[in-house]
Amino acid sequence: PIYLDYNATTPLDPRVLEAMLPWFTEHFGNAASRTHLYGWEAEEAVVQARNQLASTLGASEKEIVFTSGATEANNLAIKGTFEARRTQGTHHYITVATEHKAVLDPFRHLEQWGADVTYLTPSPDGLISAAQIAEVLRPDTVLVSVMYAHNEIGVVQPIGEIGALCRAHGVLFHTDATQAVGKIPVDVQADAIDLLSLSAHKFYGPKGVGALYVRKGVKLTAQLDGGRHERGLRSGTLNVPGIVGLGKACQLAAQEMSTESPRLKYLRDLLEETILQQVPDTRINGHRTHRLPQVTNISFGGVDGEQLLLHLNRLAVSSGSACTSASVEPSYVLKVLGLDDALAYASLRFSLGRFTTEAEVVAAARHVQEVVARMRNQVPFA
Ligand code: PLP
Repeated sequence: PIYLDYNATTPLDPRVLEAMLPWFTEHFGNAASRTHLYGWEAEEAVVQARNQLASTLGASEKEIVFTSGATEANNLAIKGTFEARRTQGTHHYITVATEHKAVLDPFRHLEQWGADVTYLTPSPDGLISAAQIAEVLRPDTVLVSVMYAHNEIGVVQPIGEIGALCRAHGVLFHTDATQAVGKIPVDVQADAIDLLSLSAHKFYGPKGVGALYVRKGVKLTAQLDGGRHERGLRSGTLNVPGIVGLGKACQLAAQEMSTESPRLKYLRDLLEETILQQVPDTRINGHRTHRLPQVTNISFGGVDGEQLLLHLNRLAVSSGSACTSASVEPSYVLKVLGLDDALAYASLRFSLGRFTTEAEVVAAARHVQEVVARMRNQVPFA
């Protein structure tokens, strides 16, 4: 099938694999081994990757904590902030009802620990404004968490405005930038970000490695205790090949973004416009312009969502979020945006990437058109 599910994960770029390979075999050292060459080499490779990542974010290398991915980074940012302030009375936190589960569930945990959490509802196009946040800020608000770009609908939030608001009120600002890093420019200084999560496998790096950017001076309590790696914020032997891959993937994405981004936008628009023109009763979910260049989320009125996915057997796309696809619930994100269950079920996320071709997009649009027409006309599938 044609792979249009790059927001779920991306294949490893062969150039990234090439950079990683020696760190599995001949250079297998433990980056924490300070007494011999094996350790020094591994440490040197980690330093390089840390610099590659820091420079793409506008951060300093001392502000990077390598983790197992964005889920762990979000948990460290959110629970780690709570724990670091635990002794200082009640706490208030602000996030958005359409965040990824890897943000919402740590906040549920905080509620069990006694925190107050406000879950804001975005406008029907998926956007949240700094003004909405300003309205619910309290004197005891500790942290605001708003994702940079949405995994399901691709909406890019006004992160700079939200960051400036938080900074002005002395409130910490965390952003889950898992879907933004490598796709659009992200700058922790320009956007006044204090904590930022990312995961390498979303931008052609390996799975199981990510990072949390922690602004200098921000206090967190570690969630993994042990050998005090990563300045005590994340113990555990560093995944050197994975970290090398993350660094290389960052570097490639930064180098290629200015050509890749318009290419993907062209292909996404082609896919979207073809489907919208040729398939009646369709609508796009999420803001049309404040959006990532390579994703579209389309609802198909009057068709059964489960059947639709089943019949689209020449496409690898997702309905709702792949990360919660263990359950066959309609997307909670689309429901928050006002879609009813049936329409939320009958919505598909198409996400394009580095290896997507125009021929694939044309074939995908044709397949969607044929399948939906057959379903609506009740023509049996052979
Ligand atoms: N946050 C967002 C916005 C995501 O899209 C994902 C992945 O689906 C995650 C967090 C979790 O990333 P990982 O599974 O690599 O920890």
